[in-house]
Amino acid sequence: MIDKDFPIFDAHMHYTGKFMNKNETLIEFLDRFGIDKAIITTLNTSANSKLLSTINNKDLTDKQLADKFYPKNQYNHEHVKKLIESHPKRLIGFYWFNPRIADEKDWKELTRYIKNYNFKGVKTQASLDNLDPLTDMDKLAEFCIDLDIPLYFHSGINFYFQKPFKIQSLYELKKKYKKLKLIIGHAAYTMEYMISLLRYFEPFPRVYFETSLSVPYGIKVLIKVMGAERVLYGSDSPPATTPDIEINKIKILDLPKDIQKKVFYENTNNLLV
Ligand SMILES: [Zn+2]
Repeated sequence: MIDKDFPIFDAHMHYTGKFMNKNETLIEFLDRFGIDKAIITTLNTSANSKLLSTINNKDLTDKQLADKFYPKNQYNHEHVKKLIESHPKRLIGFYWFNPRIADEKDWKELTRYIKNYNFKGVKTQASLDNLDPLTDMDKLAEFCIDLDIPLYFHSGINFYFQKPFKIQSLYELKKKYKKLKLIIGHAAYTMEYMISLLRYFEPFPRVYFETSLSVPYGIKVLIKVMGAERVLYGSDSPPATTPDIEINKIKILDLPKDIQKKVFYENTNNLLV
């Protein structure tokens, strides 16, 4: 159990994952770690096992492997929607959308979720969905600006069959869409990445940095350089880890109480109003 003096809003969770106990519900999981509210999205449950099962298959070229691997359809959000409907005060949805393969019907479905249910943002995953911010994300950026909702960008490096991801591409997107509220996920997942973020995103006030799976020292630098109001606590639980680990990465920084309050709760809460 976490010993805490203020509420916690987790800016990055999924509706399920390996770190839930047997028969545990998501709400029980939240309670176990003292999480008051959470942004949840769906999960690509087969991606990692699919990739792990093919790494030794030498009959496939990288290109064939990539073609087999990339999703052909949008992700299902039925589970997430039901959970949110049952717990509207604690759960808020982000719709995981793949703009690269989206057709008219997919855009309509995305709009329906944002307008009719408690979905208040869009999440993208550039590695799993093979997205290039330079060519695949314009329409989505415009969509998020129109509806005044944040766009979450999952940070990560390329798989071995992809061309390397460049942080400059994300910067070019943001430069084009100044009004876009952009959340950069796993913002300090390496020190090198975090330092590059400082270099490119310092001029843009509407960029937020989510802390899941980050290096604690990187979180400290982000708060110091970018300002405490732009850093959002997130855990990427239950699939990647448990929240206590991610909460402690911020607790050990020994930040003043008012800054902790902002990072753990207020910033995410304000962003979604
Ligand atoms: Zn995640």
